[in-house]
Amino acid sequence: MKVVILNGGKGTRLGLSDRPKPMVPVAGRPLLERLLDVGKASGFEDYVFLNGHLAEVIEAHFGDGAGYGVRIRHVREAAPLGTAGAIREARALLTEPFLVIYGDILIDVDLAHFAAFHRARGGIGTLFVHPNDHPQDSDLVEADETGRIRRFLSKPHAAGAVLPNLVSAALYVLDPAAIGHVPPQGASDWGHDVFPAIVAAGGVLHAYRSLEYAKDIGTPDRLARGEADLASGRVERLSRRQPKPAVFLDRDGVLNAEINGVHRPDDLVLLDGAGAALRRINRSGIPAICVTNQPDVAKGLVSPEALRQVFAALDTALARDGAYLDDLYHCPHHPERGWPGEVAALKVDCECRKPKPGMLLAAARDHNLDLARSWMIGDRYADVVAAQAAGARAVLVRTGHGGSDRDRHDSTPDHVADNLAEAVDYVLRTLA
Ligand SMILES: [Mg+2]
Ligand SMILES: [Zn+2]
Repeated sequence: MKVVILNGGKGTRLGLSDRPKPMVPVAGRPLLERLLDVGKASGFEDYVFLNGHLAEVIEAHFGDGAGYGVRIRHVREAAPLGTAGAIREARALLTEPFLVIYGDILIDVDLAHFAAFHRARGGIGTLFVHPNDHPQDSDLVEADETGRIRRFLSKPHAAGAVLPNLVSAALYVLDPAAIGHVPPQGASDWGHDVFPAIVAAGGVLHAYRSLEYAKDIGTPDRLARGEADLASGRVERLSRRQPKPAVFLDRDGVLNAEINGVHRPDDLVLLDGAGAALRRINRSGIPAICVTNQPDVAKGLVSPEALRQVFAALDTALARDGAYLDDLYHCPHHPERGWPGEVAALKVDCECRKPKPGMLLAAARDHNLDLARSWMIGDRYADVVAAQAAGARAVLVRTGHGGSDRDRHDSTPDHVADNLAEAVDYVLRTLA
C-alpha cells in the first residue's frame, strides 16, 4: 500500500518562512521525518509526497528516499488544489487502496492495523477518528453501531445541538474509487467537500476509532503540546505497541441518571460531578471506555437510530464539562422473549451482555488493553462480575442501582464508592 503525504501547508501560523509546514522541527526533528518513521515501523516503503509551497526544500531533504530506506515519489502541485484536488492530480499513481496523511499531524499510529481494518470492512474509505475536548468547535462525524459513517456535521454548530463527539484526525485509507468523487477541476477538500458528497450519494465510508495519538501541530500552542506529549511519554503510552490500562464505565446510574429507559436525548441527564470526574480520567491520559447493556433495543423500545442520538446527547453533556469517552461499546441484545415490538434477531443469549465480559474483551482486542491493570466502575453487581471475568477489577458505586442486584451474583467488588468522583479518585490513585 502506498502512503500519500500532503505537504502543501505553508506553516504561516508557526512563523515558518524558509521551509514548508511539514518540515517544522518537532522536539528537534522535522515532522515529515517522524511521519516516515511511523510509516516504516508499520512496514510501508512506498511514499508519494504531494508538495507545493517550497517543494524544493522537501525534495532536497528527502531525495528519492534511499537515505531513509524507503521509496519516495515527489509530485509538485502548480497551484493549491486542496487536500482532495491534490490527490486527484496524482491519481495515475494511485490504482490500489492507499493511505493519506496530512503533513501537519503528529501521530504514533499502527498504520498496518488501520489498513487491515479498511481491507476487512471494504468501502470507499476509512477515516481515523477520535473524540476531543472541544467538539462544539470541530467538524464531526456520525457513525452507526457498525462503524459506517452516516453523516458529517460541519461547524459552526447550532447552540444546543446534540453532537456526537467524533472528529476526523486527517488520516485516511482510501480506495481509488474515492478519487472519482473529487470534482474534476479546481480546489476541493476531503473533509468539507468530498466525504459528505460520498455519504450523500450512498457511498460507504467507515470510522476507525482509535486511542492512538494523532494531533495537528499547526499552531505554536499545539506544537508545544505535541512536544510536551512526546516528552512525557503520553504519545508512546497511547500507541498500540503498549498494553495499557483503561477505565471502563457503565452508563446508566454511573454517568447519567438511571431512569429505567433512556430513549430520547432529553432523557439523558448527567449525574452531578460525573463530567468533572470523567475529565480527570481524560487528563490522566488513561483511556475511558463506556460499556453499557441496552436491552431496550432488542425489546423494540428504542431504535438503533434513537439510541445513537442518546449517545450523542451523552457526548454533548460530557463535552460541556470538557470530558469525553474514548470509546463506547453497547450490547443491544436481550435473552428472553415476550415484548410486543421486540426484534427477534437481537433476542439472543449473547457474549456481550454484562455480566458476561464480551464488551471488555472486545475493547481489549481493539485497543491492546492490559485488563489486569484496568478498572470497571458500575452500579450493579453485573458490572463487577463482568469486570472480574475479564480479569479486571471493579468499583461498585452507590449511585443508580447501587448494587441492588446483589442477590443475583456471587461476587465482591474490589472497592465501593459513593459516586463516580470518589471511584475515580480511588482508581487514579491505584494506577498512579
Ligand atoms: Mg448501570
Ligand atoms: Zn450482547
